[in-house]
Amino acid sequence: MGCLFCEIINGKIPCYKVYEDADVFAFLDINPTMPGHTLVLPKKHCSGLLDVDVETLSKIMTAAQKITAAIQKALGSSGFNIIQNNGVPAGQVIEHLHFHIIPRNESDGLKHWPGKPYSGDMAADIANKIQQKLEIGNW
Ligand code: AMP
Ligand code: ZN
Repeated sequence: MGCLFCEIINGKIPCYKVYEDADVFAFLDINPTMPGHTLVLPKKHCSGLLDVDVETLSKIMTAAQKITAAIQKALGSSGFNIIQNNGVPAGQVIEHLHFHIIPRNESDGLKHWPGKPYSGDMAADIANKIQQKLEIGNW
């Protein structure tokens, strides 16, 4: 099946482009959470954060930093969220890695998702499990 974001990068589907270099492409989200909501993605197709090579990831994040600063200056926003949805349970709809840059202002009314405190040894257990996987190096 074709990839919508590859089609946008290739110019087959129109978009409001804000940035392009040899490796990275960025355009306005068609259904913005806030005006200026921008998607930053690699030109090379990969589905998510776990299958992108670190060199490309570094280029995406470097571009995202630059684009975010430009959004702030252009729109006068005083904060931002960078969100990257991975997998259907996390709300990923388009399976081409992309970072959402969402400009934020005081009293814009957006709320973060709720937190739920750990109980008992749960936090220590989970931290240990994650550390073990990282030490084994099989992540
Ligand atoms: P995600 O849920 O992280 O996969 O986000 C996909 C995003 O792509 C959504 O915020 C959509 O509004 C956005 N989107 C879908 N189609 C287009 C399009 N043709 N141009 C720009 N943004 C799009
Ligand atoms: Zn793609």
